[in-house]
Amino acid sequence: MDRLLLCTGNPGKRAELLALLPPGITVLTLEEAGLPNDLPETGDTLEANALQKARLAHARTGLPCVADDTGLEVDALDGAPGVYSARFAGPERDPVRNIELLLREMEGRQDRRARFRTVVALIDERGEQLFTGTVEGHITDRPSGGGGFGYDPVFKPDGEDRTFAEMDAVAKNAISHRGRAMRALGERLTGDRS
Ligand code: IMP
Repeated sequence: MDRLLLCTGNPGKRAELLALLPPGITVLTLEEAGLPNDLPETGDTLEANALQKARLAHARTGLPCVADDTGLEVDALDGAPGVYSARFAGPERDPVRNIELLLREMEGRQDRRARFRTVVALIDERGEQLFTGTVEGHITDRPSGGGGFGYDPVFKPDGEDRTFAEMDAVAKNAISHRGRAMRALGERLTGDRS
């Protein structure tokens, strides 16, 4: 494999994946492959959404394809927002309103345990494969930190005294859900070439 299509419009995700791959693999984004940035994600699980995007891109291009989907799973909310994390407070996908709604739903709750979970789907000549990365932590009482994105200001990983939004990208990637899933994918792709 020398070309890989990463089903994202987010350049940060491409940089993260590139850093984990052996040299010589070119990673294309959706736009570069002539596909729309917003491939449908209509499944009701992270696995279904990651596979849905990777299958569509693979069918259209014939290239090896990688797609990911991530959710924040909060125990006290029975796993919500989960697969609906981006649209928790509405279709505008507004991270500030998502955080406000989450903190309202968590008001007065003792159990604040939560995890981020990323599922990465790979489709190549060997078929379909899923890689999962998880980071356990809890939802803080109020937002803190200006880095990261999404729910980072209200998620504190276990063993850390900072939220994800208070960490730099290197520190976050070292322990994050997406970092873990991407490293598992990177190992598989590196293994193929050694
Ligand atoms: P996606 O699958 O990467 O698009 O993520 C779906 C949604 O989950 C995003 O819109 C964010 O709300 C949230 N999310 C995903 N990854 C992270 C993260 O690393 N930190 C905070 N929120 C995230």
